[in-house]
Amino acid sequence: MLSIPCQNCGQIMRTWLKDQKYCSPRCRKDVAVKPGQFSTLMSTGMRGAVGELTVSADLINKGYEVFRSVSQCASCDLIALRDGVAVRVEVRTAAIYKPTGKLCYSIINPDKADVGALVTINGITYIEPKTRATIAL
Ligand SMILES: [Zn+2]
Repeated sequence: MLSIPCQNCGQIMRTWLKDQKYCSPRCRKDVAVKPGQFSTLMSTGMRGAVGELTVSADLINKGYEVFRSVSQCASCDLIALRDGVAVRVEVRTAAIYKPTGKLCYSIINPDKADVGALVTINGITYIEPKTRATIAL
């Protein structure tokens, strides 16, 4: 039996598993910070809508014309248009993984979106879906 500290709360846990990091499912969940502006009382669909509108406002502020899908099953969330060039945007509400500060989000299909917009409590990070590299819009 090993005595190792939980990587979230620091409480010493007794375990046989040398790779165990957290004392409980709650501590494992706690290391991923959910976006604070999205109330947990909201449904996933509502949070998605707030994310899309947050990104829309940011893109309009950056000089884009923004178009939002009228269908629930479109291939991307938004189209941003500037100087005659259309950019397909997929929006994700992302969580921040506390130990590393990295963003956690579900994968964005590079065949369906040119830009990924990751919304967190700290703002919006735009990425190139194929490389996942941060880009400026
Ligand atoms: Zn713990």
